[in-house]
Amino acid sequence: MSTLIQFEKVEKSFSKGKHVIQAVSDANLRVEKGSVLGLVGESGSGKSTLGKMLIGLEVPSDGIIHYQGNPLWKKNKFRRPRPGEIQTVFQDPQSSLDPRMRVKDIILEPLLALDSKQRKEKGERLRLISLMKRVGLKAEQLDRYPHEFSGGQRQRIAIARALITDPSFIVLDEPTSALDVSVQAQVLNLLKELKRERHLTYLFISHNMSVIRYMCDQIAVMYKGRIVELGPSAELFERPRHPYTKILLSSLPSIFESEDAEKLSFAQPAEVKAGNEACVFYDRCPFRMEVCLKAPPFENKTEEHGFACHLQE
Ligand code: SF4
Ligand code: MG
Repeated sequence: MSTLIQFEKVEKSFSKGKHVIQAVSDANLRVEKGSVLGLVGESGSGKSTLGKMLIGLEVPSDGIIHYQGNPLWKKNKFRRPRPGEIQTVFQDPQSSLDPRMRVKDIILEPLLALDSKQRKEKGERLRLISLMKRVGLKAEQLDRYPHEFSGGQRQRIAIARALITDPSFIVLDEPTSALDVSVQAQVLNLLKELKRERHLTYLFISHNMSVIRYMCDQIAVMYKGRIVELGPSAELFERPRHPYTKILLSSLPSIFESEDAEKLSFAQPAEVKAGNEACVFYDRCPFRMEVCLKAPPFENKTEEHGFACHLQE
């Protein structure tokens, strides 16, 4: 496998009045071509911000993001290799699809960024029809408006819109979180099939560990803007190392657990007020110790699996 994306010491901060909010700190990770990297963590952990830096919606404050070996951002300008190469599907198809636009125009919209010659060559109408069918909708529905569709169907429209430019990479930000469980499974399966057929690479953002387990090859666990654990999906589920990952897994239905899985939960906030130097998880960690008032480094324990915690086995 070759590396499609590499984050090197990526930082993102926002200023809010007098305060600086550190949304992403020291993010280092790779996404291999043809794989799915899962980003998991609670809301506000920086997952979406990290995803937005990959689609041109947030400028990194520091560090480098490489895409196919070239910096994706140069002097605060977003440089994708070609228009439409990187696409996205957001959580809420209700708000991400313009209610006044017909489905065919919604799906074609990303093509407007391409020049007209490219567009003609692509045989729009035929592409539209075949894409509609591929995502499980009908050609007759192309003239309808978003409100005439169910939530799951709207997400299929958003997927078709992402695919119209033939992307290599798609950021999926909570793509099924707004859907009923049964519909969720259908959309996840569609995404899996499309990935295989079109040799896509995904960044899959979710707070749902079961969904992450189903979809991802690698997982990065984020807490307060930091990647606290990173590793192959199977290994991370079998042998989670960071206390926060363990807690996330404890909340899964027991069918996923091995018999001796520890049941863990968040600790009460610490009495000692942790400063900026402390481990990000200090305040809620059931294992916190004095040494944790100084943040642990992120260490790779094997070539692929690493985490940031002072606890050793
Ligand atoms: Fe918990 Fe300490 Fe590990 Fe942080 S370093 S996760 S506070 S045990
Ligand atoms: Mg989010």
